[in-house]
Amino acid sequence: MTQTEAKERIEKLKKLIDKYRYQYHVLNRLEISEEALDSLKHELKKLEDEFPDLVTPDSPTQRVAGKPLKEFKKIRHETKMLSLEDVFSEEEFSEWLTRIKKLAPRDTFRFYAEPKFDGLALSVVYENGILKYAATRGDGEIGENVTQNVRTIESVPLNVEEKGKIEVRGEAIITKKNFEAINKVQKKKDGQIYANPRNLAAGSLRQLDPKITASRRLDFFSYDLLGMGLKNHSEEHKTLRKLGFKTGGDLERRCEGAEEVFKHYKGIAERRDKLPYNIDGLVVSVDSNKLYKKLGVVGKAPRGAAAFKFSPKEATTKVEDIIVQVGRTGALTPVAVLRPVEIGGVTVSRATLHNEDEIKRLGLKIGDSVIVGRAGDVIPDVRKVLKGLRTGHEREFHMPKHCPVCKHEVKKAHGDVISYCVNKSCPARHRENLYHFVSRKAFNIDGLGPKILDAFLDNGLIQDAADIFELKEGDIAPLERFGEKSAQNIIEAIKNSRRIPLARFLYALGILHVGEETAIDLAEHFGSLDKLEKADLEELQKVPNIGEVVARSTYDWFRDGRNKNFLKKLLKYVEIENPKRKKPGKLAGKTFVFTGELESMSRDEAKTKVRNLGGDPSETVSKNTGYVVVGENPGSKYEKAKKLGVKIIDEKEFFQLVK
Ligand SMILES: [Zn+2]
Repeated sequence: MTQTEAKERIEKLKKLIDKYRYQYHVLNRLEISEEALDSLKHELKKLEDEFPDLVTPDSPTQRVAGKPLKEFKKIRHETKMLSLEDVFSEEEFSEWLTRIKKLAPRDTFRFYAEPKFDGLALSVVYENGILKYAATRGDGEIGENVTQNVRTIESVPLNVEEKGKIEVRGEAIITKKNFEAINKVQKKKDGQIYANPRNLAAGSLRQLDPKITASRRLDFFSYDLLGMGLKNHSEEHKTLRKLGFKTGGDLERRCEGAEEVFKHYKGIAERRDKLPYNIDGLVVSVDSNKLYKKLGVVGKAPRGAAAFKFSPKEATTKVEDIIVQVGRTGALTPVAVLRPVEIGGVTVSRATLHNEDEIKRLGLKIGDSVIVGRAGDVIPDVRKVLKGLRTGHEREFHMPKHCPVCKHEVKKAHGDVISYCVNKSCPARHRENLYHFVSRKAFNIDGLGPKILDAFLDNGLIQDAADIFELKEGDIAPLERFGEKSAQNIIEAIKNSRRIPLARFLYALGILHVGEETAIDLAEHFGSLDKLEKADLEELQKVPNIGEVVARSTYDWFRDGRNKNFLKKLLKYVEIENPKRKKPGKLAGKTFVFTGELESMSRDEAKTKVRNLGGDPSETVSKNTGYVVVGENPGSKYEKAKKLGVKIIDEKEFFQLVK
């Protein structure tokens, strides 16, 4: 190949690689495989090795080219990188707005609201279309030159179609998934464990060896564009995207006023946990750059923008009491009664303590100051006791020896950490059983939640679950809070629930240890309620996945006089669909246990696939388990499978089996 030919080929390769890089790392899609992209890079590298004169700084091969540095050089920012004022509520936001409106009473205020990424702020400067240097924020005036490292971030373009000198500001971040993967590797080699993705992003950018930075797969979201004299902040974002940068996507928008900002804020707060990376609020700026400038700077923060932070996910408060709740199975759960505290926008006054052992593990006493946390929609829990704040007036908690509701004796099964009220007619258990009966995986009666059931019970409209089917519109409508319309809806939902597959019916009965899976096993094995009712202990134990304990509790349930009467009454209203006898599928007789997260489908979907082919999904690993399917972050089942020598397969192999 001649020099001229090589030059032409190199130019074309660079363009093509850059196009695919942009698709993959900025737009999150790829038309060709990563392997094919690597192979293009490889060809380019070989050509450049042959013709070193043709290497340019914007070549994709130059992303990881630097040698380790001794130290970072300092860089003075041409325009100071300011910090933002924080506001934590709509009220504080409105105060901020009132304040700045006073300074510019004649101006129209429009806003640009965008995610506040939780990473490390960067300034990236381009000259003549080429990435010139990149610096950390530092103290806002002087940062560190991290150009070598920033070049390894694939979502940062090495060249842009803008010849003037421009500065792009944004945040280098690491996704939650990468964060976990990297910490796992660090742990294996006894390296440093990072506290959170921000910490890791900062640590990765401040590596003297760019190869380490490259291995961390940082991402970059841009939010400011300086040097082009654009009129609005929203225009900056539009231009950034045009130049090939990533921005906040559908997490950012222009807002006409405070109300629109609040609405956007709420929407983002709800999606926050599901995002692949951490954000800790919204940045709200006045959209007009002219107005932004006019409002000026106070201290180190511009007046024209504010960080509208999400409320924290943890807070400290005091445990005023510990009470005990009785569940459907009679399980006693200690619950902390808290001095009310706001966490993540919700006032929290109770937190679960799970069981007695958890209280011991925490070392919790009544009266203690604690850290309470809340993740997603889960019930808040106590994370840590602040023992340094004790006054000496704290009291020890003891699990009661008697059920707090029916005063019956409490028992703890051998080796179990949970105490149970063993009184079968305990009103608390009865109530919880009703909740269970109508729940989604049981009778699935729409609109009939705990609050309504409580009202029915308290007004004497029902005694047991069978009574639900006797309810009339006229019974419900007069109750407080229920209008005619909702009464009608509930009656309709009850009517629709009368036909029910055997497995769901069995699950709804609330037999101790009979969960969703076991109910399906029982239904498929016996084929009808009649056969199951008559089955003796020995026969019950023949059902796949059913051991002595489950067999015993099932057997006992059907022989209890009270249950017998209930069943007789219930069957007057309910029509059970028996499972169809299936032809033996190709997985017949094989049990499958899943552990860890599957990438391409939910666990429920995977189980259905197994079942459809005649196989048997199970929750516990034993010698008789056919396969243990291991996804990402597998749990103890994986260890157990290895110990027992059970066949272990990954997601790909599983697909081959169920294809
Ligand atoms: Zn009780």
